Amino acid sequence: MRIGIIGTGPAGLFLGATLARRGHAVLAVDRDTGPDPDGTWARRGVMQFHHPHGVRPQVGEGLLAELPEAHAAWVAAGAEPIVFVLPDGRRMTGGMRSRRATFERALRDVATREPGLEIRRGHVDGVAVSGGRARGLVVDGVGEPVDLVVDASGRSGRATRDLTGGPAVEGDTGAAYVSRQYRLHDPADPGPMTNPLAWQADLDGYQVIVFRHEAGVFSVLLVRPAGSLRELRHEAVFDAACRAIPGLDAWTDPGRAVPITPVLPGGRLYNHYRSQPDVDGLVLVGDAVCTTTPMFGRGLATTMMQCRELLRRIDTGEIGGFGAWCDAEMRPWVEDHVRSDDHARRAWAGGDVDLTGPLPSPLIMAAAEVDGRIGAALGPYLAMLAGPASLDTVEPLAHAVYAGGWRPAPAAGPTREELATLLRRTAAS
Ligand SMILES: Cc1cc2nc3c(=O)[nH]c(=O)nc-3n(C[C@H](O)[C@H](O)[C@H](O)COP(=O)(O)OP(=O)(O)OC[C@H]3O[C@@H](n4cnc5c(N)ncnc54)[C@H](O)[C@@H]3O)c2cc1C
Repeated sequence: MRIGIIGTGPAGLFLGATLARRGHAVLAVDRDTGPDPDGTWARRGVMQFHHPHGVRPQVGEGLLAELPEAHAAWVAAGAEPIVFVLPDGRRMTGGMRSRRATFERALRDVATREPGLEIRRGHVDGVAVSGGRARGLVVDGVGEPVDLVVDASGRSGRATRDLTGGPAVEGDTGAAYVSRQYRLHDPADPGPMTNPLAWQADLDGYQVIVFRHEAGVFSVLLVRPAGSLRELRHEAVFDAACRAIPGLDAWTDPGRAVPITPVLPGGRLYNHYRSQPDVDGLVLVGDAVCTTTPMFGRGLATTMMQCRELLRRIDTGEIGGFGAWCDAEMRPWVEDHVRSDDHARRAWAGGDVDLTGPLPSPLIMAAAEVDGRIGAALGPYLAMLAGPASLDTVEPLAHAVYAGGWRPAPAAGPTREELATLLRRTAAS
């Protein structure tokens, strides 16, 4: 087939290279200019590009299975497997430590060299449709006939919106990011960790996560209720917050690490799930299908799961069933996040746990601290090997924990009000 792909983010690059490798003629179009000759890459159309990404095992597994050179290039660029030991002694891989830019650059380098894949700079204005079937891309006003259009245009892509209608599921996370990258003076001397993947503190009214990346680089992320703690975008204010939060002060101590980027503010974040369009020869994939609360680090994994499923279906001629697969396997994650964020927004506003309906996943997981039977059931969900419904069996146990009055204690450190006062004082001085 001749296949046209809208977007060369992770979904477009991975599918472009793997479809070309299967003998299809692929044109992938992106308005991004790619990395500059000096190595920098602004990537303005993907606002999260320089924000921290936790990379789950599904991503590396997909590369190893389909594009092993990209995996090798990623590792050569410094990506580090996260290996941890379970209580029974088994070793598990928890994903890769890597900046998003390091991952995407390795994937792009390999995709660019793939015969049969043309990566073109341009803007896809829309998709030509006739007789209920997609016939081609319209690139900067010029038609490009194709047999199959893959919309991998991400969370804010507009090229097929007139054909897909509104999202089937959507919700405001209520959260916004502020992050900054640092480099350890000595990569062997990182700060404290609360789990094998990160250092995390759920404080009263906001959240802090430190993501370790490759080669001693790490990101500090403050997750704030959208509209609050706005002063964090200023470097002196961000520094003051780092000094005030126990644990984060250790990570960002100038004796341990130095900032390597400005403070990176981010906008309001939304969950959405978009059904496949009722147009033959047009499929959505990656963030064009679904986005989920980013702190849980699921976006690249859901993207890779979709790409591999779509590949399998293109190989076997079963593309028609891709929509039903997405409804069954992707939509429940978005619904899970919408429920979880409803709770998070209420908690950040000072509200109590709502016991009138089923508990959201984060509350079920937190209750494992009290009832060990809950923890024993979490593994497949945490690894995304089983969907949110796999928690249904332990939800009643968690419900009983909260009905008994227990609540997760906030991590030690300033409350949001205390932090806001400190930040205002720092901004004014
Ligand atoms: C703040 C934030 C933090 C995140 N953190 C994590 C994390 O920790 N772990 C994780 O796994 N995931 C995370 N994600 C999700 C992850 O970034 C996405 O899942 C991933 O980018 C999806 O890749 P994609 O290829 O579908 O889309 P994108 O990466 O958005 O790529 C889409 C591409 O399409 C191009 N494009 C769009 N429209 C057009 C057009 N009309 N013409 C030409 N080109 C076009 C854009 O320029 C872009 O290059 C995070 C997301 C956000 C917002």
